[in-house]
Amino acid sequence: MADDYYELLGVKRDATKEELKKAYRKQALKYHPDKNPGDKGAEEKFKEISHAYEVLSDDKKRATYDQYGSTAFQPGTGGHSSGQGVDFSGFRNHFDVFRDVFGDLGGLFGGAMGGSGRTAVDCDLRGEVEISLKEAFSGTERTVKYRRRIPCKKCKGTGSADGSKPKACGTCGGQGAVFLNRGFFQMSQTCPNCRGTGTVVSNPCSECGGAGTVAEPHSVRIKIPAGVENGMQLRSSGEGNSDPHGGQFGDLYVVVQIKEERDFQRQGANLQSAVSVPFATLALGGEVEVPTIDGSGMLKIPAGTQSETTFRLRGKGMPAVGRIQRGDHFVQVHVEVPGKLTKAQKEKLEAFAESMGQKSGEKVGFFHRIFQ
Ligand SMILES: [Zn+2]
Ligand SMILES: [Zn+2]
Repeated sequence: MADDYYELLGVKRDATKEELKKAYRKQALKYHPDKNPGDKGAEEKFKEISHAYEVLSDDKKRATYDQYGSTAFQPGTGGHSSGQGVDFSGFRNHFDVFRDVFGDLGGLFGGAMGGSGRTAVDCDLRGEVEISLKEAFSGTERTVKYRRRIPCKKCKGTGSADGSKPKACGTCGGQGAVFLNRGFFQMSQTCPNCRGTGTVVSNPCSECGGAGTVAEPHSVRIKIPAGVENGMQLRSSGEGNSDPHGGQFGDLYVVVQIKEERDFQRQGANLQSAVSVPFATLALGGEVEVPTIDGSGMLKIPAGTQSETTFRLRGKGMPAVGRIQRGDHFVQVHVEVPGKLTKAQKEKLEAFAESMGQKSGEKVGFFHRIFQ
């Protein structure tokens, strides 16, 4: 914080209020953050001159400043705590000081402050539907019900009870957006007075309160294509809100969520699953029936197949949107160990183990791997 507030503003110590204001205007326009985006030095200078102007434009504060200097107005110094009657916390945000002098920010820098023209009203709506993997496989339809804004019939979308033309909104100056101070940052927000339209009506319609649109229940039948992927967004053109001016409708965007399936894992157009196969089938070879996304298929097991082997069922995966060929279905086989054996089965298995060069109950090697 610079010490000499007069020097900071570029005025003499006996400057009049008018001279102070004029000097502040000149400096503030030069150093305003919106004119110097990203320039920390300018922002600091803007804060300093705003603070200096606030002090010097107030008779009481100016007198204190003239007597004690700037230390009287800085935090952590004697000024605040030594009972000189200056409450530092009473200082306003520098943007508020600026606004006092310049009035509403909206029109000041024109396009530089708020972008060019008024903010467009977002007429698009967004929703979500959840479907199963089987539905994603075959494609499906859903009716989505929601409320959307349509032009008010009573005032024919004008928002006015007497047919008068809408005027520029006083709160945002027709910009559709207002600027809020958050610390040292300025944020632009949709104007709460005109809801971003930039216009207000003097004699608002009783049906829509001047908005020109009313919310109505609406439903749309949505076609979800076969092969749709999780998170895919579908657009229904013209099923969004009506914009308050031209009666143009926005779009409806629906995000498709696919429920997780326990039996099938999906990777793009491919599917993965696991099946348990009896040890004898893996050892001797055979055929097993495996569930697929559209029913079931027969999986050929060659003799001597090891557990955890993955087979491919070609063309048995998911379809892909806009493609003719289906993906593949990968099936991993897991050895199925019988939980209970009859005496006869046990004897045969022991005989088998022995034939493989193992003693009954031996805990190493091949059987160890299976029974552990
Ligand atoms: Zn407004
Ligand atoms: Zn109306």
